[in-house]
Amino acid sequence: MMIQEKSTLILSNPVSELRGIGPRYLKYLEKLGIKTIKDLLFYFPFRYDDFSKIKKISEIKVGEIVTIIGQIQKIKNRYLFRRRLTLTEAKISDETGELDVIWFNQPYLLKNLALGATVSLSGKISAKKKKLILASPAYELISEPLTESKSYILQKKLRNTGRLVPIYPLTSGLTSRLMRYFITMAIKLRNQIEDPLPYNLRKKYQLTEIKEALKQIHFPDDFKKAQLARARFIFEELFLLQLYFIKRKAKYSHLKAPQINLDIPLVQEFVKKLPFTLTDGQRQVIWQIINDLSSLKPMNRLLEGEVGSGKTIVAMVAALLAVKSGYQVAFLAPTELLAQQHFDRFSNFLNGFGIKICLLTSSETRLKEDELEGKVSKKIIKKIIEEGRPMIVIGTHALIQKDVRFKNLGLLIVDEQHRFGVEQRASLVLASRKEKGDYYIPHLLSMTATPIPRTLALTLYGDLDLSLLTEVPSGRQPIYSEIVLPERQKEIFEFIRQEVKKGRQVFVICPRIEEPTEEAWVPDSLLDWNQKINSEVKAVKKEYQKLSQEIYPDLKVGMLHGKMKSAEKEKIMQDFRDKKIDILVTTSVVEVGIDIANATIMVIEGAERFGLAQLHQFRGRVGRGSYQSYCFLFPSDNNQAESLRLKALVNCQDGFKLSEEDLKIRGPGEFIGTRQAGYPDLAMAKLSDLERVSIIREEALKLYRSSPALKEYPLLARRFEEFEKTLRNL
Ligand code: ADP
Ligand code: MG
Repeated sequence: MMIQEKSTLILSNPVSELRGIGPRYLKYLEKLGIKTIKDLLFYFPFRYDDFSKIKKISEIKVGEIVTIIGQIQKIKNRYLFRRRLTLTEAKISDETGELDVIWFNQPYLLKNLALGATVSLSGKISAKKKKLILASPAYELISEPLTESKSYILQKKLRNTGRLVPIYPLTSGLTSRLMRYFITMAIKLRNQIEDPLPYNLRKKYQLTEIKEALKQIHFPDDFKKAQLARARFIFEELFLLQLYFIKRKAKYSHLKAPQINLDIPLVQEFVKKLPFTLTDGQRQVIWQIINDLSSLKPMNRLLEGEVGSGKTIVAMVAALLAVKSGYQVAFLAPTELLAQQHFDRFSNFLNGFGIKICLLTSSETRLKEDELEGKVSKKIIKKIIEEGRPMIVIGTHALIQKDVRFKNLGLLIVDEQHRFGVEQRASLVLASRKEKGDYYIPHLLSMTATPIPRTLALTLYGDLDLSLLTEVPSGRQPIYSEIVLPERQKEIFEFIRQEVKKGRQVFVICPRIEEPTEEAWVPDSLLDWNQKINSEVKAVKKEYQKLSQEIYPDLKVGMLHGKMKSAEKEKIMQDFRDKKIDILVTTSVVEVGIDIANATIMVIEGAERFGLAQLHQFRGRVGRGSYQSYCFLFPSDNNQAESLRLKALVNCQDGFKLSEEDLKIRGPGEFIGTRQAGYPDLAMAKLSDLERVSIIREEALKLYRSSPALKEYPLLARRFEEFEKTLRNL
């Protein structure tokens, strides 16, 4: 009945229509991605403070977190000059007693909480000189001084005290208290929402109806209901994601891909020329892939491999067949160093097969065919790409610029695909063409050495076929790994010197200086990227100074970081390969892919700052030859030595097991990096939710089969459209 509750408000209105949201808050809210009232309504808390225990003053004990409802008997501000602090001291009473209350630096409280007012206060009871005191409680005015309080209490809905109180992820300038106020207004409009999930599904899985779920996720009656509400939204998200994969797969199944000859003799010839024998795993995966390639259906396969399991060779076979069938191959690497390394290896192993191989990065172009190598301009390379000449083009992001037009792309290989925005993959896939009425797209092979646990892979890449390479070539010894406490580091430095004297080489990795990097890092913007690089460079320079001047003045110490010019980087790597450098101090640029068999020692400074998968990647840079290899983890201090992650790494050499472990420690949201572009907010989900994915997938499939265009489910169809938009990058 209240007048200010404008019945004209609708959820799609901008939040500025709500009372109290002016330009200032508008800006902050926008930072959180909140533009409309609906966005606000769907902005969920990440946890709750439990203030639901309401007690009488006579019942409270030290250490308890409680809510007290009482009347203000005394309240005043006191300024402590020496400590530059304002104390607000109050006394409240109920029918059982009195309690001292104190707030720090909130002088404005006096305006809200007047003498004689009835208030609700929530917080932890502590003791001062044996007297109980409530410090910095959350507060809420229940009635002004002169009103008849008793009857009022029953009507008043508590928002900040006396209940499970939601805590929101925030940006500076906002508080959870403010968010609660805003959201209370949005919640009143929840009746405008209709549940997109079909009734049967909701019933079968006991999912809370959406209006109720919205209320319970913000202002739950109890924890159980909050949990159920959350589970409902996670279910919806996972369901939509699976539906999305199913639809996309169906769409692709109408497309065609170039047919690549299953030229077994050619494969045999290639394999025979290799300086080693393939592992069984490599043989199996190669077989899977070349079979895929020879069908008219586009391959869409993710090759997950243990670090050092030899994925590059597998990709090479696929590339060889594609080129020999007259197609172009694009091979996308995450860094220039890696692109160069791949280029060298491809030219090396494919020597004698009469194949054009080209390197294309933003700073360098090279072209090779067997023994012939020429420096050619970017322009010419782009021209022959555009002409459609069969060749392998290896490169970085430079490959997916608009001005590179593959005329005849048969196969796209993406190395270390977790480092790429999925959008970019798509942009190459779009190098599709139409021929005699059929649409063609290239086959896609993605490779990653950051094994994603099956449960998560199914969730994130539901429409990809999965190949696993779990074994590494035989003859490799396990890498000795140790967490080195500061007091033992001297000893290790001496040990390293001895190893170098024997002819071995060493990597030393430094983290960036500021905040720890928990997740696989994905740049939000160029600015972000620059900051990261700058900070890493600073750390590396410092470490380089220390090692080259203080610790190893007698050895050849080199430095490598992301700020260096490409040619400079390559020179350093070449020097390291040629053993002109003993110890290479570097940033995470060596994280993926770099392959140097004589390097046997990996030192990781500030090791706790890296994610488990990343640490495993670093460790994978050594142990590639037949020598005993070592990985020394230097935590920043003794406390960090207790890091679960570091312990997990030391105890396990198996990347697949480690990634399961990592997923358990961090939860899926952090595991994939909450910033990972394009994915829905799986930060909410737990591992146990992901374990339900196959069930959810079944349900999505059933529904899709019964109504491919979702005609019978208009609400779901609308929600799906919306969801698809948020995934546009995918
Ligand atoms: P990753 O799977 O980590 O990308 P690479 O493809 O870089 O691994 O291979 C690691 C190293 O192992 C390379 O030097 C490669 O030549 C070598 N290699 C690949 N397959 C075998 C094999 N079957 N036997 C021995 N060495 C191999
Ligand atoms: Mg690799």
